[in-house]
Amino acid sequence: MDYDEMSYRILALKYRPQTFDEIWAQDHIKETLKRAIEQNKIGHSYLFAGPRGVGKTTTARILAKSLCCVKGPTINPCNECKTCQEIAASRNMDVLEIDGASNRRIEEIRELRENIKYLPTSARYKIYIIDEVHMLTTEAFNALLKTLEEPPKNVVFILATTAPHKVPGTILSRCQRFDFRKATVDEISNRLAWLTKKENIKITPEALYAIARRADGAIRDAEVILDQLWAFCPEGITKESVYELLGIVPSSVFEEYAELLASSDERGLVEFIDKIFASGYDTIEFFAGLIEYFRSLAMLRLGFDAQTLELLPDEFTRRTKASQRFDSETLLIIISTLCSTEEQIKRSLLPKILLEVVSLKLAKAMKSSKANSPNLNNHQDESLARIFKDLLSHLRTKKLPLASRLELATPQKLEGDTLYIQFPKNHSLNRDHFEANKSLAEAILSELIKRPAKIVSELKETALDEQGKSNPQKAENEQLKKIGKVFEYEEVE
Ligand SMILES: [Zn+2]
Repeated sequence: MDYDEMSYRILALKYRPQTFDEIWAQDHIKETLKRAIEQNKIGHSYLFAGPRGVGKTTTARILAKSLCCVKGPTINPCNECKTCQEIAASRNMDVLEIDGASNRRIEEIRELRENIKYLPTSARYKIYIIDEVHMLTTEAFNALLKTLEEPPKNVVFILATTAPHKVPGTILSRCQRFDFRKATVDEISNRLAWLTKKENIKITPEALYAIARRADGAIRDAEVILDQLWAFCPEGITKESVYELLGIVPSSVFEEYAELLASSDERGLVEFIDKIFASGYDTIEFFAGLIEYFRSLAMLRLGFDAQTLELLPDEFTRRTKASQRFDSETLLIIISTLCSTEEQIKRSLLPKILLEVVSLKLAKAMKSSKANSPNLNNHQDESLARIFKDLLSHLRTKKLPLASRLELATPQKLEGDTLYIQFPKNHSLNRDHFEANKSLAEAILSELIKRPAKIVSELKETALDEQGKSNPQKAENEQLKKIGKVFEYEEVE
């Protein structure tokens, strides 16, 4: 975030969770901690690991209050006693918050070890919250380790870090570790919806979602963004104002690009890129958004749903439609090409030309892949081919001769519950055999499409068996057909 965070922290501070129940999206952690407090099984050292802005320090303070509250130890600190209030304001003598980044030298840890010898002045426990603990120097870690090895009674260490892999194993092994996760877009937008209702902030659901997505799992960031938007748009926050303030490129821009690419419109792409650069979008922002967009198309082709992809219903519909303009392989080529260009774009003095070149290359690739595969843009055909392939491979394990007969046929369409297939004209005998024994194939197909299915076959009018001579796959099928003849007796039912 490049704007001044500090001046927009009013909401984040006002709604900072004060009890375990108010902690958002970290259920597994708060339940475990509550149980430990209730059963009086407090450890000597905890490690809170996780990305920034997900509530590590907040949870550490609540744990400190729970242990030190005059009515405690309790899972519901009163938040009213002197101790609770001092801890909330970070000025309790017995709950020390140390920033690992600025107190990373051995001297500071030595001082801490000296300090530990003294009993808590007023509270029940002495609690050390060391933030960004991975920043400590090796010497400081060694000094800390000695303390963790022989912890004085009633001392609790809470080490917080965004980079647990940088914390020495010797320290990790002495801590009870909690991994804080990023909040989902849904969780963040629910939190923001609750908060805006409390504060009477007018905001549209799309705007909430856009903020939640930008916050990338950090609830605190989302609250800071909301605060800033509220200051700029006191009369009401819309999706457009979020996009404008945060420099987010709207989805429709990527849709337009994808459409031009799908139709290999080279001239259109160049004009589009010119328009993008003229409209003042941040190049890197645009490029990252483009990669993200094509990734979502690829995920949609794999059958992921709107919730998993964190898409709004409208976006889901539009992108599903767009995804059908590309086959999975082409999408992978587009994504990997864009990804490998990202670094160059960031460094380039001529990002526009680079983007033009990449786009034209992709458009050319689209053109040639379309020429190679007439079904490129047809989702229906692709899934038909897949079902037919699955049917064959299942059938092969059950009845090879029947499978090798079916292999001679070409799937035409899957309409409702009926699969239509076509045998070459000169394979009428094979077709007859298939027809006589097709119930097994129909049973397998029913399982595959999860509803009762039929297979209807016909003979193709023009003979295509000439192809068999040049096509190794067909030649192999001929071979299988012969094998089928040998096993003929198997097919008698
Ligand atoms: Zn209290």
